[in-house]
Amino acid sequence: MHNYHKSLPLIDCFDVIVVGSGSAGSPAAISASRAGAKTLIIERLPFIGGTSTAVLDTFYGYYTPGSQSIKVVGGIADDVVKGLGEYNASFERPNTFGAGTGVTYHPEYLKVVWEKLLMQAGCSILLNAHVTDVVKKGDKIIGLVVATKDGLKYYEAKQIIDASGDADICHQAEAPYELAGAVDPAQTLTTTFKMVNVDCEKRKTIAKKEINALMEEAAASGKYNLPRKEGSDHITPVSHMTATIMTRLTSFRKEGDVTINAADPEFLSHAEIEGRLQAIEYIRFLRDYVPGYEKAELSTYGMQIGVRETRRIHGQYRLTSEDVLSAKKFDDQIGLCGAPMEDHHDGEGVRWQYLPDGKTVGIPFRTLVPQKIENLLVAGRCFSASHVAHSSVRSMAQCMVMGEAVGNAAVLALKTDTQPGNINVADLQDTLEKNGGILR
Ligand SMILES: Cc1cc2nc3c(=O)[nH]c(=O)nc-3n(C[C@H](O)[C@H](O)[C@H](O)COP(=O)(O)OP(=O)(O)OC[C@H]3O[C@@H](n4cnc5c(N)ncnc54)[C@H](O)[C@@H]3O)c2cc1C
Repeated sequence: MHNYHKSLPLIDCFDVIVVGSGSAGSPAAISASRAGAKTLIIERLPFIGGTSTAVLDTFYGYYTPGSQSIKVVGGIADDVVKGLGEYNASFERPNTFGAGTGVTYHPEYLKVVWEKLLMQAGCSILLNAHVTDVVKKGDKIIGLVVATKDGLKYYEAKQIIDASGDADICHQAEAPYELAGAVDPAQTLTTTFKMVNVDCEKRKTIAKKEINALMEEAAASGKYNLPRKEGSDHITPVSHMTATIMTRLTSFRKEGDVTINAADPEFLSHAEIEGRLQAIEYIRFLRDYVPGYEKAELSTYGMQIGVRETRRIHGQYRLTSEDVLSAKKFDDQIGLCGAPMEDHHDGEGVRWQYLPDGKTVGIPFRTLVPQKIENLLVAGRCFSASHVAHSSVRSMAQCMVMGEAVGNAAVLALKTDTQPGNINVADLQDTLEKNGGILR
Protein backbone atom coordinates (compact mmCIF):
# COMPACT_ATOMS: atom_id res chain seq x y z
CA MET A 1 0.00 0.00 0.00
CA HIS A 2 1.29 3.46 -0.89
CA ASN A 3 -0.25 6.61 0.64
CA TYR A 4 -0.50 9.56 -1.70
CA HIS A 5 -1.55 13.06 -0.56
CA LYS A 6 -2.06 16.08 -2.76
CA SER A 7 -3.98 19.38 -2.58
CA LEU A 8 -6.10 19.75 -5.71
CA PRO A 9 -7.23 23.01 -7.32
CA LEU A 10 -11.02 23.56 -7.13
CA ILE A 11 -11.88 24.36 -10.74
CA ASP A 12 -15.58 25.22 -10.43
CA CYS A 13 -18.85 24.46 -8.61
CA PHE A 14 -21.88 23.21 -10.54
CA ASP A 15 -25.52 22.50 -9.75
CA VAL A 16 -25.26 19.16 -11.55
CA ILE A 17 -22.32 17.12 -12.79
CA VAL A 18 -22.98 14.19 -15.10
CA VAL A 19 -20.25 11.56 -15.34
CA GLY A 20 -20.24 9.82 -18.71
CA SER A 21 -21.76 11.03 -21.98
CA GLY A 22 -23.34 7.86 -23.45
CA SER A 23 -26.98 7.42 -24.42
CA ALA A 24 -27.87 7.97 -20.76
CA GLY A 25 -25.42 10.70 -19.72
CA SER A 26 -25.92 13.05 -22.65
CA PRO A 27 -29.72 13.31 -22.24
CA ALA A 28 -29.19 13.72 -18.47
CA ALA A 29 -26.92 16.71 -19.05
CA ILE A 30 -29.12 18.15 -21.83
CA SER A 31 -32.25 17.96 -19.68
CA ALA A 32 -30.57 19.37 -16.55
CA SER A 33 -29.19 22.27 -18.61
CA ARG A 34 -32.50 22.90 -20.35
CA ALA A 35 -34.17 22.98 -16.92
CA GLY A 36 -31.85 25.83 -15.95
CA ALA A 37 -29.14 24.09 -13.90
CA LYS A 38 -25.47 25.00 -14.25
CA THR A 39 -24.35 21.63 -15.59
CA LEU A 40 -21.05 19.97 -16.48
CA ILE A 41 -20.69 16.70 -18.34
CA ILE A 42 -17.37 14.85 -17.89
CA GLU A 43 -16.31 12.25 -20.44
CA ARG A 44 -13.12 10.17 -20.50
CA LEU A 45 -13.18 9.81 -24.33
CA PRO A 46 -12.38 12.65 -26.75
CA PHE A 47 -15.99 12.78 -28.01
CA ILE A 48 -19.56 12.47 -26.78
CA GLY A 49 -21.77 9.38 -27.09
CA GLY A 50 -20.06 6.49 -25.27
CA THR A 51 -21.13 3.12 -26.66
CA SER A 52 -23.51 4.85 -29.13
CA THR A 53 -20.62 6.47 -31.01
CA ALA A 54 -17.57 4.39 -30.01
CA VAL A 55 -19.01 0.91 -30.60
CA LEU A 56 -22.43 0.80 -32.28
CA ASP A 57 -24.66 2.26 -34.98
CA THR A 58 -28.27 1.18 -34.31
CA PHE A 59 -30.68 2.42 -31.65
CA TYR A 60 -33.10 -0.21 -30.44
CA GLY A 61 -36.00 0.37 -28.10
CA TYR A 62 -37.74 3.22 -29.96
CA TYR A 63 -40.40 0.74 -31.09
CA THR A 64 -41.99 -2.43 -29.77
CA PRO A 65 -41.06 -5.61 -31.67
CA GLY A 66 -43.65 -8.17 -32.78
CA SER A 67 -46.70 -7.67 -34.98
CA GLN A 68 -47.11 -3.97 -34.11
CA SER A 69 -44.34 -1.41 -34.28
CA ILE A 70 -45.47 1.03 -31.60
CA LYS A 71 -43.22 4.00 -30.79
CA VAL A 72 -42.59 4.06 -27.02
CA VAL A 73 -40.03 6.82 -26.47
CA GLY A 74 -40.04 10.57 -27.16
CA GLY A 75 -38.48 13.75 -25.76
CA ILE A 76 -34.71 14.04 -26.25
CA ALA A 77 -34.67 10.68 -28.05
CA ASP A 78 -36.72 12.40 -30.78
CA ASP A 79 -34.34 15.38 -30.85
CA VAL A 80 -31.45 12.97 -31.50
CA VAL A 81 -33.16 11.34 -34.49
CA LYS A 82 -34.19 14.79 -35.79
CA GLY A 83 -30.57 15.95 -35.47
CA LEU A 84 -29.35 12.93 -37.43
CA GLY A 85 -31.99 13.66 -40.07
CA GLU A 86 -30.45 17.11 -40.66
CA TYR A 87 -27.33 15.29 -41.91
CA ASN A 88 -29.33 12.58 -43.68
CA ALA A 89 -27.39 10.26 -41.39
CA SER A 90 -29.93 7.65 -40.26
CA PHE A 91 -32.60 5.29 -41.52
CA GLU A 92 -35.01 2.82 -39.98
CA ARG A 93 -34.33 -0.90 -40.37
CA PRO A 94 -37.57 -2.86 -39.91
CA ASN A 95 -37.57 -5.70 -37.40
CA THR A 96 -33.86 -6.32 -37.50
CA PHE A 97 -32.26 -8.88 -35.20
CA GLY A 98 -35.50 -9.74 -33.39
CA ALA A 99 -35.44 -6.49 -31.42
CA GLY A 100 -37.97 -4.53 -33.47
CA THR A 101 -37.42 -1.61 -35.81
CA GLY A 102 -33.92 -0.21 -35.35
CA VAL A 103 -32.72 3.30 -36.12
CA THR A 104 -29.38 2.83 -37.87
CA TYR A 105 -27.17 5.94 -37.94
CA HIS A 106 -23.74 7.17 -38.91
CA PRO A 107 -21.87 7.38 -35.58
CA GLU A 108 -19.52 10.16 -36.73
CA TYR A 109 -22.55 12.42 -37.33
CA LEU A 110 -24.09 11.27 -34.05
CA LYS A 111 -21.03 12.63 -32.21
CA VAL A 112 -21.80 16.07 -33.66
CA VAL A 113 -25.52 15.75 -32.94
CA TRP A 114 -24.89 14.95 -29.25
CA GLU A 115 -22.36 17.79 -28.99
CA LYS A 116 -24.71 20.31 -30.61
CA LEU A 117 -27.62 19.34 -28.35
CA LEU A 118 -25.41 19.77 -25.28
CA MET A 119 -24.02 23.12 -26.41
CA GLN A 120 -27.45 24.45 -27.44
CA ALA A 121 -28.71 23.57 -23.95
CA GLY A 122 -25.83 25.58 -22.44
CA CYS A 123 -24.02 22.61 -20.87
CA SER A 124 -20.28 22.77 -20.13
CA ILE A 125 -18.37 19.85 -21.64
CA LEU A 126 -15.10 18.36 -20.40
CA LEU A 127 -13.62 15.69 -22.68
CA ASN A 128 -10.55 13.50 -22.16
CA ALA A 129 -11.28 13.64 -18.43
CA HIS A 130 -11.63 10.57 -16.23
CA VAL A 131 -13.43 10.84 -12.89
CA THR A 132 -11.26 8.77 -10.58
CA ASP A 133 -12.57 9.47 -7.09
CA VAL A 134 -15.24 11.20 -5.02
CA VAL A 135 -15.01 13.40 -1.94
CA LYS A 136 -17.82 12.72 0.51
CA LYS A 137 -19.27 14.45 3.55
CA GLY A 138 -21.49 12.00 5.44
CA ASP A 139 -23.83 10.42 2.91
CA LYS A 140 -23.32 13.12 0.28
CA ILE A 141 -20.78 13.49 -2.49
CA ILE A 142 -19.42 17.03 -2.43
CA GLY A 143 -16.84 16.80 -5.18
CA LEU A 144 -15.17 14.73 -7.86
CA VAL A 145 -11.49 14.10 -8.55
CA VAL A 146 -10.85 14.23 -12.27
CA ALA A 147 -7.72 13.01 -14.07
CA THR A 148 -6.84 15.33 -16.95
CA LYS A 149 -3.87 15.91 -19.25
CA ASP A 150 -2.90 18.67 -16.82
CA GLY A 151 -3.02 16.41 -13.75
CA LEU A 152 -5.72 15.87 -11.14
CA LYS A 153 -8.45 18.51 -10.76
CA TYR A 154 -11.31 18.92 -8.31
CA TYR A 155 -14.91 19.86 -9.24
CA GLU A 156 -17.84 20.37 -6.87
CA ALA A 157 -21.56 19.84 -7.50
CA LYS A 158 -24.79 19.78 -5.53
CA GLN A 159 -26.15 16.81 -7.48
CA ILE A 160 -24.20 14.05 -9.21
CA ILE A 161 -25.43 11.75 -11.97
CA ASP A 162 -23.51 8.53 -12.51
CA ALA A 163 -23.93 7.68 -16.19
CA SER A 164 -20.55 5.98 -16.46
CA GLY A 165 -22.19 2.70 -17.54
CA ASP A 166 -19.97 0.95 -15.01
CA ALA A 167 -21.32 2.75 -11.92
CA ASP A 168 -17.84 4.16 -11.27
CA ILE A 169 -19.19 6.87 -8.99
CA CYS A 170 -21.33 4.44 -6.97
CA HIS A 171 -18.23 2.27 -6.65
CA GLN A 172 -16.06 5.14 -5.39
CA ALA A 173 -18.81 6.47 -3.11
CA GLU A 174 -19.49 3.00 -1.68
CA ALA A 175 -23.12 2.96 -2.76
CA PRO A 176 -24.22 -0.69 -2.87
CA TYR A 177 -24.08 -2.60 -6.17
CA GLU A 178 -23.50 -6.13 -7.45
CA LEU A 179 -20.76 -7.16 -9.82
CA ALA A 180 -22.17 -8.75 -12.97
CA GLY A 181 -20.88 -12.30 -12.81
CA ALA A 182 -20.89 -12.45 -9.00
CA VAL A 183 -24.67 -12.69 -8.45
CA ASP A 184 -25.99 -13.58 -11.90
CA PRO A 185 -23.89 -14.03 -15.04
CA ALA A 186 -22.54 -11.05 -16.98
CA GLN A 187 -23.41 -10.64 -20.64
CA THR A 188 -20.54 -11.37 -23.00
CA LEU A 189 -18.26 -8.71 -24.53
CA THR A 190 -18.17 -7.93 -28.26
CA THR A 191 -15.61 -6.16 -30.42
CA THR A 192 -17.56 -4.65 -33.30
CA PHE A 193 -15.98 -4.02 -36.70
CA LYS A 194 -16.94 -2.51 -40.05
CA MET A 195 -16.16 -3.76 -43.53
CA VAL A 196 -15.88 -1.67 -46.72
CA ASN A 197 -16.02 -2.65 -50.40
CA VAL A 198 -18.89 -5.00 -49.64
CA ASP A 199 -21.16 -5.87 -52.55
CA CYS A 200 -24.32 -5.30 -50.52
CA GLU A 201 -26.68 -6.44 -53.30
CA LYS A 202 -24.86 -9.79 -53.53
CA ARG A 203 -24.72 -10.04 -49.73
CA LYS A 204 -28.54 -9.78 -49.65
CA THR A 205 -28.81 -13.03 -51.63
CA ILE A 206 -28.35 -15.07 -48.46
CA ALA A 207 -30.20 -14.77 -45.16
CA LYS A 208 -28.72 -14.45 -41.65
CA LYS A 209 -29.61 -18.10 -40.96
CA GLU A 210 -27.53 -19.21 -43.93
CA ILE A 211 -24.54 -17.12 -42.79
CA ASN A 212 -24.83 -18.74 -39.38
CA ALA A 213 -24.81 -22.18 -41.04
CA LEU A 214 -21.66 -21.15 -42.93
CA MET A 215 -20.09 -20.07 -39.64
CA GLU A 216 -20.81 -23.54 -38.22
CA GLU A 217 -19.23 -25.08 -41.29
CA ALA A 218 -16.14 -22.85 -41.16
CA ALA A 219 -15.67 -23.46 -37.42
CA ALA A 220 -16.07 -27.22 -37.90
CA SER A 221 -13.32 -27.16 -40.54
CA GLY A 222 -10.89 -26.29 -37.74
CA LYS A 223 -9.42 -23.46 -39.82
CA TYR A 224 -11.30 -20.56 -38.18
CA ASN A 225 -11.66 -19.70 -34.51
CA LEU A 226 -15.30 -18.54 -34.38
CA PRO A 227 -16.62 -18.87 -30.83
CA ARG A 228 -20.00 -17.37 -31.74
CA LYS A 229 -21.98 -18.91 -34.59
CA GLU A 230 -25.03 -16.60 -34.73
CA GLY A 231 -23.40 -13.21 -35.22
CA SER A 232 -24.90 -10.70 -37.64
CA ASP A 233 -23.98 -7.99 -40.13
CA HIS A 234 -26.06 -5.12 -41.45
CA ILE A 235 -25.93 -2.28 -43.94
CA THR A 236 -24.95 1.23 -42.80
CA PRO A 237 -25.62 4.77 -44.13
CA VAL A 238 -22.28 4.53 -46.00
CA SER A 239 -22.58 2.68 -49.31
CA HIS A 240 -20.68 -0.62 -49.58
CA MET A 241 -20.00 -0.58 -45.82
CA THR A 242 -21.42 -3.09 -43.34
CA ALA A 243 -21.24 -3.21 -39.56
CA THR A 244 -21.08 -6.41 -37.52
CA ILE A 245 -21.97 -7.81 -34.11
CA MET A 246 -20.09 -11.12 -34.34
CA THR A 247 -17.36 -11.64 -31.78
CA ARG A 248 -17.97 -13.03 -28.31
CA LEU A 249 -15.60 -12.75 -25.35
CA THR A 250 -16.08 -14.13 -21.87
CA SER A 251 -17.14 -11.33 -19.58
CA PHE A 252 -16.00 -12.54 -16.16
CA ARG A 253 -14.03 -15.14 -14.25
CA LYS A 254 -14.00 -16.33 -10.68
CA GLU A 255 -10.94 -16.63 -8.50
CA GLY A 256 -12.28 -18.36 -5.38
CA ASP A 257 -14.94 -15.99 -4.01
CA VAL A 258 -13.69 -13.08 -6.08
CA THR A 259 -15.39 -12.14 -9.36
CA ILE A 260 -13.36 -10.31 -11.96
CA ASN A 261 -15.11 -8.63 -14.90
CA ALA A 262 -14.60 -5.76 -17.35
CA ALA A 263 -14.54 -3.25 -14.47
CA ASP A 264 -11.08 -4.67 -13.77
CA PRO A 265 -8.38 -2.81 -15.80
CA GLU A 266 -6.24 -5.87 -16.53
CA PHE A 267 -9.21 -8.03 -17.51
CA LEU A 268 -10.43 -5.23 -19.81
CA SER A 269 -6.98 -4.75 -21.40
CA HIS A 270 -6.79 -8.44 -22.22
CA ALA A 271 -10.34 -8.43 -23.65
CA GLU A 272 -9.57 -5.44 -25.91
CA ILE A 273 -6.58 -7.27 -27.42
CA GLU A 274 -8.33 -10.63 -27.66
CA GLY A 275 -11.39 -8.98 -29.26
CA ARG A 276 -9.39 -7.60 -32.16
CA LEU A 277 -7.69 -10.96 -32.72
CA GLN A 278 -11.09 -12.65 -32.75
CA ALA A 279 -12.48 -10.04 -35.17
CA ILE A 280 -9.72 -10.92 -37.64
CA GLU A 281 -10.94 -14.52 -37.65
CA TYR A 282 -14.48 -13.36 -38.50
CA ILE A 283 -13.11 -11.09 -41.25
CA ARG A 284 -11.28 -14.07 -42.80
CA PHE A 285 -14.47 -16.07 -42.57
CA LEU A 286 -16.59 -13.34 -44.21
CA ARG A 287 -14.19 -12.95 -47.12
CA ASP A 288 -13.81 -16.70 -47.65
CA TYR A 289 -17.43 -17.79 -47.21
CA VAL A 290 -20.01 -15.02 -47.57
CA PRO A 291 -21.27 -13.77 -50.94
CA GLY A 292 -20.57 -10.05 -51.34
CA TYR A 293 -17.51 -10.05 -49.08
CA GLU A 294 -15.03 -11.46 -51.62
CA LYS A 295 -13.28 -8.10 -52.11
CA ALA A 296 -14.21 -6.53 -48.79
CA GLU A 297 -11.65 -4.94 -46.46
CA LEU A 298 -11.60 -4.16 -42.76
CA SER A 299 -12.46 -0.49 -42.22
CA THR A 300 -12.39 -0.05 -38.42
CA TYR A 301 -12.84 -1.88 -35.14
CA GLY A 302 -15.14 -0.31 -32.60
CA MET A 303 -12.85 2.14 -30.83
CA GLN A 304 -13.29 0.14 -27.65
CA ILE A 305 -14.69 -3.28 -26.86
CA GLY A 306 -18.46 -3.34 -26.31
CA VAL A 307 -19.21 -3.93 -22.62
CA ARG A 308 -22.80 -4.81 -21.85
CA GLU A 309 -22.69 -4.83 -18.04
CA THR A 310 -20.18 -4.67 -15.19
CA ARG A 311 -21.82 -3.24 -12.06
CA ARG A 312 -25.58 -3.23 -11.41
CA ILE A 313 -26.48 -0.80 -8.64
CA HIS A 314 -28.79 -1.70 -5.79
CA GLY A 315 -31.39 1.00 -6.13
CA GLN A 316 -34.58 1.67 -4.24
CA TYR A 317 -36.20 -0.90 -6.55
CA ARG A 318 -34.70 -3.77 -8.54
CA LEU A 319 -36.46 -4.53 -11.81
CA THR A 320 -36.97 -8.28 -12.29
CA SER A 321 -37.52 -10.54 -15.30
CA GLU A 322 -41.07 -11.21 -13.99
CA ASP A 323 -41.76 -7.46 -14.14
CA VAL A 324 -40.54 -7.36 -17.74
CA LEU A 325 -42.36 -10.49 -18.93
CA SER A 326 -45.63 -9.45 -17.30
CA ALA A 327 -45.30 -5.91 -18.74
CA LYS A 328 -45.71 -4.51 -15.24
CA LYS A 329 -46.66 -0.87 -14.73
CA PHE A 330 -45.39 1.25 -11.82
CA ASP A 331 -46.74 4.43 -10.16
CA ASP A 332 -43.29 6.00 -10.48
CA GLN A 333 -42.48 4.96 -14.04
CA ILE A 334 -40.56 7.51 -16.09
CA GLY A 335 -40.71 5.70 -19.42
CA LEU A 336 -41.50 2.48 -21.24
CA CYS A 337 -39.63 -0.44 -22.68
CA GLY A 338 -40.95 -3.03 -25.14
CA ALA A 339 -37.57 -4.52 -26.10
CA PRO A 340 -37.17 -8.27 -25.55
CA MET A 341 -34.80 -9.67 -22.96
CA GLU A 342 -31.75 -10.42 -25.09
CA ASP A 343 -29.26 -12.36 -23.05
CA HIS A 344 -25.83 -12.68 -24.67
CA HIS A 345 -24.60 -15.45 -22.40
CA ASP A 346 -21.43 -17.52 -22.55
CA GLY A 347 -21.47 -20.52 -24.89
CA GLU A 348 -23.75 -20.85 -27.91
CA GLY A 349 -26.73 -18.69 -28.81
CA VAL A 350 -28.55 -15.61 -27.49
CA ARG A 351 -31.57 -16.20 -25.23
CA TRP A 352 -34.53 -14.09 -26.40
CA GLN A 353 -37.63 -13.68 -24.24
CA TYR A 354 -40.46 -11.45 -25.44
CA LEU A 355 -43.06 -9.35 -23.62
CA PRO A 356 -46.68 -9.98 -24.69
CA ASP A 357 -47.12 -8.66 -28.25
CA GLY A 358 -47.26 -4.85 -28.35
CA LYS A 359 -46.84 -4.47 -24.58
CA THR A 360 -44.29 -2.52 -22.56
CA VAL A 361 -42.86 -2.60 -19.04
CA GLY A 362 -42.62 0.65 -17.07
CA ILE A 363 -39.18 1.85 -15.98
CA PRO A 364 -39.52 2.79 -12.28
CA PHE A 365 -37.76 5.97 -11.16
CA ARG A 366 -36.62 4.05 -8.06
CA THR A 367 -34.32 1.87 -10.23
CA LEU A 368 -32.28 5.05 -10.82
CA VAL A 369 -31.97 6.06 -7.17
CA PRO A 370 -29.02 4.37 -5.45
CA GLN A 371 -29.15 3.39 -1.83
CA LYS A 372 -27.07 5.17 0.80
CA ILE A 373 -25.82 8.26 -1.09
CA GLU A 374 -28.33 11.13 -0.96
CA ASN A 375 -27.37 13.39 -3.86
CA LEU A 376 -26.60 10.71 -6.44
CA LEU A 377 -28.67 9.34 -9.32
CA VAL A 378 -27.74 6.79 -11.98
CA ALA A 379 -28.89 6.30 -15.54
CA GLY A 380 -28.11 3.77 -18.24
CA ARG A 381 -26.70 0.29 -18.18
CA CYS A 382 -25.74 0.34 -14.48
CA PHE A 383 -29.36 0.87 -13.31
CA SER A 384 -30.94 -1.38 -10.69
CA ALA A 385 -32.15 -4.59 -12.33
CA SER A 386 -31.54 -8.30 -12.34
CA HIS A 387 -29.19 -9.59 -15.03
CA VAL A 388 -32.08 -10.77 -17.23
CA ALA A 389 -34.33 -7.69 -16.78
CA HIS A 390 -31.27 -5.57 -17.58
CA SER A 391 -30.93 -7.32 -20.94
CA SER A 392 -34.26 -5.78 -22.03
CA VAL A 393 -34.18 -2.28 -20.60
CA ARG A 394 -30.52 -1.49 -21.46
CA SER A 395 -31.31 -0.60 -25.11
CA MET A 396 -30.07 2.84 -26.06
CA ALA A 397 -33.54 4.40 -26.43
CA GLN A 398 -34.36 3.39 -22.83
CA CYS A 399 -30.97 4.71 -21.64
CA MET A 400 -31.93 8.07 -23.19
CA VAL A 401 -35.27 7.97 -21.37
CA MET A 402 -33.52 7.24 -18.05
CA GLY A 403 -31.04 10.06 -18.68
CA GLU A 404 -33.74 12.60 -19.44
CA ALA A 405 -35.57 11.56 -16.27
CA VAL A 406 -32.61 11.85 -13.89
CA GLY A 407 -31.46 15.18 -15.36
CA ASN A 408 -34.89 16.61 -14.60
CA ALA A 409 -35.06 14.83 -11.24
CA ALA A 410 -31.76 16.35 -10.11
CA VAL A 411 -33.03 19.85 -10.97
CA LEU A 412 -36.38 19.21 -9.32
CA ALA A 413 -34.52 18.17 -6.16
CA LEU A 414 -32.53 21.42 -6.24
CA LYS A 415 -35.63 23.56 -6.87
CA THR A 416 -37.62 21.94 -4.06
CA ASP A 417 -34.66 21.85 -1.68
CA THR A 418 -34.70 18.11 -1.21
CA GLN A 419 -32.78 15.06 -2.42
CA PRO A 420 -33.69 13.05 -5.54
CA GLY A 421 -35.04 10.11 -3.52
CA ASN A 422 -37.64 12.44 -1.95
CA ILE A 423 -38.88 14.40 -4.96
CA ASN A 424 -42.52 14.46 -5.95
CA VAL A 425 -42.35 11.92 -8.79
CA ALA A 426 -45.71 13.11 -10.19
CA ASP A 427 -44.08 16.51 -10.86
CA LEU A 428 -41.18 14.77 -12.62
CA GLN A 429 -43.62 12.75 -14.73
CA ASP A 430 -45.51 15.96 -15.67
CA THR A 431 -42.27 17.60 -16.81
CA LEU A 432 -41.26 14.57 -18.87
CA GLU A 433 -44.65 14.38 -20.57
CA LYS A 434 -44.66 18.12 -21.30
CA ASN A 435 -41.27 17.64 -22.98
CA GLY A 436 -42.58 14.88 -25.25
CA GLY A 437 -41.85 11.83 -23.09
CA ILE A 438 -44.10 8.76 -23.45
CA LEU A 439 -44.85 7.41 -19.99
CA ARG A 440 -48.11 5.49 -20.38
C1 LIG B 1 -21.74 -5.13 -28.23
C2 LIG B 1 -23.00 -4.44 -27.83
C3 LIG B 1 -24.06 -4.41 -28.72
C4 LIG B 1 -25.21 -3.74 -28.38
N1 LIG B 1 -26.19 -3.59 -29.31
C5 LIG B 1 -27.14 -2.68 -29.12
C6 LIG B 1 -27.91 -2.21 -30.22
O1 LIG B 1 -27.71 -2.63 -31.36
N2 LIG B 1 -28.87 -1.26 -29.96
C7 LIG B 1 -29.11 -0.78 -28.70
O2 LIG B 1 -30.00 0.05 -28.53
N3 LIG B 1 -28.36 -1.21 -27.65
C8 LIG B 1 -27.36 -2.09 -27.84
N4 LIG B 1 -26.53 -2.45 -26.81
C9 LIG B 1 -26.80 -1.91 -25.45
C10 LIG B 1 -26.49 -0.41 -25.36
O3 LIG B 1 -25.54 -0.06 -26.32
C11 LIG B 1 -25.96 0.01 -24.00
O4 LIG B 1 -26.74 -0.56 -22.97
C12 LIG B 1 -26.01 1.54 -23.89
O5 LIG B 1 -25.30 2.11 -24.96
C13 LIG B 1 -25.47 1.99 -22.57
O6 LIG B 1 -25.47 3.40 -22.52
P1 LIG B 1 -24.87 4.11 -21.23
O7 LIG B 1 -24.99 5.58 -21.49
O8 LIG B 1 -25.46 3.56 -20.00
O9 LIG B 1 -23.34 3.66 -21.22
P2 LIG B 1 -22.18 3.98 -22.23
O10 LIG B 1 -22.70 4.28 -23.58
O11 LIG B 1 -21.19 2.91 -22.06
O12 LIG B 1 -21.62 5.36 -21.70
C14 LIG B 1 -20.83 5.50 -20.54
C15 LIG B 1 -19.94 6.70 -20.78
O13 LIG B 1 -19.25 7.02 -19.59
C16 LIG B 1 -17.88 7.25 -19.89
N5 LIG B 1 -17.17 6.96 -18.64
C17 LIG B 1 -17.12 5.77 -18.01
N6 LIG B 1 -16.45 5.88 -16.85
C18 LIG B 1 -16.07 7.18 -16.76
C19 LIG B 1 -15.34 7.90 -15.79
N7 LIG B 1 -14.92 7.32 -14.66
N8 LIG B 1 -15.10 9.21 -16.02
C20 LIG B 1 -15.53 9.82 -17.16
N9 LIG B 1 -16.24 9.18 -18.11
C21 LIG B 1 -16.52 7.87 -17.90
C22 LIG B 1 -17.58 6.30 -21.02
O14 LIG B 1 -16.46 6.69 -21.75
C23 LIG B 1 -18.88 6.40 -21.83
O15 LIG B 1 -18.84 7.47 -22.75
C24 LIG B 1 -25.36 -3.14 -27.09
C25 LIG B 1 -24.30 -3.18 -26.19
C26 LIG B 1 -23.12 -3.81 -26.56
C27 LIG B 1 -21.97 -3.78 -25.62
